[in-house]
Amino acid sequence: MAELRVVTLAGADSALDEAVVEGFGSGLRGELLRPDDAEYEESRQLWNGVIEKRPALIVRCASVEDVVEAVNFARENDLLLAVRAGGHNVAGTASADGGLVIDLSAMKSIEVDPERRTVRAGAGLTIGELDEETQKHGLATPMGVVSETGIAGLTLNGGIGHLRRKHGLSSDNLISASVVTADGRLLTASEEENADLFWAIRGGGGNFGVVTSFEYRLHPVGPEVMCAFVLYPGDLAGEVLRSVEEYVADAPDEVSPLSFLGRVPRVEDFPGEWHGEQYVAVLAVYAGPVEEADEALRPLRELGDPIVDFSGPMPYAEVQKLLDEDYPDGWRYYWKSVNVGGLDDGVISALMEQAEAAPSEHSTIDVWFQGGAMGRVGADESAFGDRSAPILLGIEANWEGPEDDEANIAWARDCFAGMRRFSDGGVYLNFPGFLEEGQGLMRDAYGKNYERLVEIKNQYDPANLFRLNQNIQPTA
Ligand SMILES: Cc1cc2nc3c(=O)[nH]c(=O)nc-3n(C[C@H](O)[C@H](O)[C@H](O)COP(=O)(O)OP(=O)(O)OC[C@H]3O[C@@H](n4cnc5c(N)ncnc54)[C@H](O)[C@@H]3O)c2cc1C
Repeated sequence: MAELRVVTLAGADSALDEAVVEGFGSGLRGELLRPDDAEYEESRQLWNGVIEKRPALIVRCASVEDVVEAVNFARENDLLLAVRAGGHNVAGTASADGGLVIDLSAMKSIEVDPERRTVRAGAGLTIGELDEETQKHGLATPMGVVSETGIAGLTLNGGIGHLRRKHGLSSDNLISASVVTADGRLLTASEEENADLFWAIRGGGGNFGVVTSFEYRLHPVGPEVMCAFVLYPGDLAGEVLRSVEEYVADAPDEVSPLSFLGRVPRVEDFPGEWHGEQYVAVLAVYAGPVEEADEALRPLRELGDPIVDFSGPMPYAEVQKLLDEDYPDGWRYYWKSVNVGGLDDGVISALMEQAEAAPSEHSTIDVWFQGGAMGRVGADESAFGDRSAPILLGIEANWEGPEDDEANIAWARDCFAGMRRFSDGGVYLNFPGFLEEGQGLMRDAYGKNYERLVEIKNQYDPANLFRLNQNIQPTA
């Protein structure tokens, strides 16, 4: 009898009867892909080229029922299970060698209610696809700053972007979600229904079930907004970062600056004499009336002689795509993040040294200025946890070929270790590269919320079916 080689939940090699697999596939509305199917190779690829995984089965779900079937099939057959939405998680948790992948990327339903200012969004949507529909009504919900990222993974671990100080995290804007739990039930999670599950999925990642759709609050944004986007010479990094920090202390919530240190890309948009040189960038949107924006953003544009100033009014949906081309599919990526309490001289000189030492010209160190609306949500109001840190550092090793893996991963780790000296430990779980720090990292991220997350995990997923993620290990 023909068999399919698979890997069990515990990681052991095993086999599945082909007839059982056939039966499962024939009951789906979507497709079931196996390694010899024509579409398999493309479907198994993730955004990060470092991650090379070959699942035994990919379920390209077309409906909520498909998701329920797939969860039940994985559980009943003891299969290692991965959940994939936008496929952009840096650690590559959305696939599993020899396992079953629940691929939600075709589930792109979207319904905007402009009267109530809400949107119900299928878990397979990217940020760009969501923004495109909501912007038709001059509305938006906070998302990340690269439009090709999936809304699902991003929201489940928080979600920080250009609207964070005005409207909070993506997860702060959730009204409800539809969740298929490990036992195959379809639940609504909201303040009114399954409130513990709702608390847990707002920051707790993919640990509690498969979210098939998200309902978000919308806010008036754009469609045209003013955007400040300036690159200054790298030797001004200290002054620029200190000035932005001072600016943020009095800035309106409408402005959520993001700075980054890197090397000027060798492309036409940037002056040739600067190609490959260090820069410090400041990028911020004004999430309010365009008439007020010029004055509010001007200080960020006058921090020195710029290398280039791309600032100006532009559609919000375009702002969300400004950084897309810096992150091509299939390049190699390894990221880290750490919260710091401020930008004192020690932090700034460490940042400048580390940026200089990056082996790849595509790598950056990002400085996210936090506070505002995202900072006013209490640490115990959702799983996301403490928001008191004024600054989140993102350490991004981005490079092209496998021959440079070792040097780039070593740089990111070294940079992380160096910057951690300035931190009381907080990290942001949407950014870590591989998951090597394990449970230590989870405790740092969730702080006091960790114990409650374990309790909810025990309730909804005691066997840890949803384990390929920033995992909260059940103790039941
Ligand atoms: C280029 C780029 C830019 C980024 N910019 C930002 C940014 O500005 N702000 C920010 O906050 N983050 C940002 N991120 C990080 C991003 O939020 C995470 O990588 C996130 O995991 C991506 O979501 P995804 O759906 O694409 O991921 P996937 O790789 O598809 O999924 C990641 C994990 O999330 C879980 N998951 C996904 N969907 C579901 C679901 N429907 N139900 C249950 N579990 C699920 C699973 O555990 C899965 O393994 C960026 C990432 C990239 C690659």
